[in-house]
Amino acid sequence: MNAGELVEIAVEVDGEAAEAVVELFNRFNGSDWVEDSAAGEASGGGAVLESTGYDDFGNPVVGEYKTVVKTYVKPGPRGLRIQRQIEEGLWRLRLLYPMPEPVARTVKDEDWAHAWKRHYKPMRIGRRVLLTPAWEEPDVLPEDIVVRLEPGMAFGTGLHPTTRLCVAALEDWVRPGDSFMDVGTGSGVLSIVAAKLGAGPVWATDIDPLAIRAARENAARNDISLGNDALHIEQGSIPEGQAGRFEVIAANILAEVLVGLLDGTYEKVSLAEPLALEGHLILSGILEDKSEMVMSAAARHGLKEVDRRQEADWLALVVRKEHDMGYA
Ligand code: SAH
Repeated sequence: MNAGELVEIAVEVDGEAAEAVVELFNRFNGSDWVEDSAAGEASGGGAVLESTGYDDFGNPVVGEYKTVVKTYVKPGPRGLRIQRQIEEGLWRLRLLYPMPEPVARTVKDEDWAHAWKRHYKPMRIGRRVLLTPAWEEPDVLPEDIVVRLEPGMAFGTGLHPTTRLCVAALEDWVRPGDSFMDVGTGSGVLSIVAAKLGAGPVWATDIDPLAIRAARENAARNDISLGNDALHIEQGSIPEGQAGRFEVIAANILAEVLVGLLDGTYEKVSLAEPLALEGHLILSGILEDKSEMVMSAAARHGLKEVDRRQEADWLALVVRKEHDMGYA
């Protein structure tokens, strides 16, 4: 196998089984190198859904149509190990849901990187934001906030409901001059929107180096200058030594990760620490039935719900820092 190739593991399923397979793929191949950047075809971590039917938002419709769930692993021993775990997991799932054997094949890296483009068209979000693939020339109104994106392998095109919920929340909660941080920036979409809404300084972090590269390129594409007072992009998660610095923070990851970030499971500091007193934290990537778990974590850190938005099964919660929990 050559560099620039990936192993695609695909299984054709319907209805309920699709969710189970997505969960399985995410469990074994979730946060790693292959993000759900197929944008719009994606549902959580490492699973990509391709359906013969799509809804108005470009999301695959599961159930009524034929659905293929795919994931991609890098060649090499680690990828092989993930592939084996997935195959074993699927074998177990077949006891519950009848489904065919998974099909594994080698694909070119670029195929994966470009697969999502088929469904990616300009789209309006909230009142003024127009997200557009960099290669399209949409009609622009004078008041539009146009954000041009080429996400590459990073997540965040606006095709996923979680991104749209965040963009709409930013329009309502970011005021010009606010300091803003975006943890898990992916393509950089939220930071670019915030900067265009007048926020500054804007900080964007992501643990994935591919996301950092995509975010930098997208910032340039949108004429946003990089630097400490404008847009600062760094690889990582929650920065230390920034207590109370940001008036608005957004994190569009997944419920479990948000809870870990709030409770300081992964980093030395809680996601609540860099938030200013009376500042707002936008938490997104939350499946409806996981909202309680995120809300109680938020409450543990002095954060109170002030806004809640939903699209399909996905929720975004806006919480305000009402109490300083003594972060230095
Ligand atoms: N903000 C974009 C992308 C969200 S996808 C949008 O709203 O569309 C989630 C991103 O979080 C991914 O790019 C992933 O690499 C990153 N991520 C996952 N866990 C993280 C962590 N613990 N800290 C920082 N970033 C993380």
